[in-house]
Amino acid sequence: MPLNEQLVRDALSTVEDPDLRKDLVTLGMVQGIDLGPGRVTVRIELTTPACPMKDRIRTDIEGAIRAAAQSAGDGPPEITVDFSADVRRPNEKVRDRGTPLPQVRHVIAVGAGKGGVGKSTIAVNLAVGLARAGARAGVLDGDIFGPSLPTMLGLDTIPGQVEGNMLLPFEVHGIRAMTIGKLVEPDKALIWRGPMAHSAFRQLATQTEWGELDYLIIDLPPGTGDVPLTMAQLLPLSGAVVVCTPQRVALDDARRAIRMFQQLGIDLLGIVENMSSYVDDSGREHDLFGRGGAELLAQEMHVPFLGAVPLVPALRINSDLGTPLKNWTGGPLTEALDGMVRQLAAQVSIASMQGRFVQPTLSVH
Ligand code: ADP
Repeated sequence: MPLNEQLVRDALSTVEDPDLRKDLVTLGMVQGIDLGPGRVTVRIELTTPACPMKDRIRTDIEGAIRAAAQSAGDGPPEITVDFSADVRRPNEKVRDRGTPLPQVRHVIAVGAGKGGVGKSTIAVNLAVGLARAGARAGVLDGDIFGPSLPTMLGLDTIPGQVEGNMLLPFEVHGIRAMTIGKLVEPDKALIWRGPMAHSAFRQLATQTEWGELDYLIIDLPPGTGDVPLTMAQLLPLSGAVVVCTPQRVALDDARRAIRMFQQLGIDLLGIVENMSSYVDDSGREHDLFGRGGAELLAQEMHVPFLGAVPLVPALRINSDLGTPLKNWTGGPLTEALDGMVRQLAAQVSIASMQGRFVQPTLSVH
């Protein structure tokens, strides 16, 4: 088979941007492929016109295309690599292109520097809290490698439904939800590599019949991997929330997560301090991890502080049983969750009035 566009694209997917350590196709840098007799032209969009790695990328592209031509049985083609540059970050570009989810008003990502800090718990309770406050809210389990929503929302016994080629979201506790955990065997997703996680996220987000939503909360995998990049390239986000616990080591991880969102061009709506203090069954508070650290981090990084959620046995139990509405039976937990929800809604409104995610912004590094 002679060299064709797909073979060239496959070849480009083996070429990595040396700085970003991801391939050119995943990074969305391939803007065009043009083939003629004995020649190939590729158009590559860099993130800066002053890219110091340009020559290296060119050499790698030429090598990959030559190898592809050889395995296709063609002679060595004449290769032209045209570079252009777009200094906007991934999520800023998407805002120009428009959204694949026109019925969803605000997409909000919830991330964390590392696992186990309560990111999924906060994501679920933000969605439920927004719904209780009168909004139409949904939650998407973007934690492709370790989905928690089936348990936290009690979806285990509810069958998934499909209409045409669209998935119908689960309608539970006043919200709509979708999770990979109900679509594939739990152990399978763990071994997925970048490209599979990329397409799994894309399908979950765009092939779910969300209907009209005011807020769609996305529970991201912990850390800084492929899924946040995929999300940033696909959906215009209103912003991101970072969840962390108050210990010093946890704050360093949170700082990394904040930087990741900034690099992707996603606004930070705020930081939540989870497991801030321990509230025992008699309602007494104990500081276990040194509360207040996240608020200081928020100040240092000029990010709003959305509130502190205490470590309460009831929150863990209600998560394990899939009964989040029981978190709203009054007391310190209910107050903390409602405070966090109010702050988030306020920050989204502020961002929206400032038009931060409506107009593309140019940033030059
Ligand atoms: P992550 O998504 O960051 O990995 P999870 O949301 O799955 O973390 O939470 C990890 C565990 O901690 C879960 O068992 C959850 O129920 C529990 N948990 C999270 N936040 C709290 C809290 N504030 N109080 C009590 N248990 C909590």
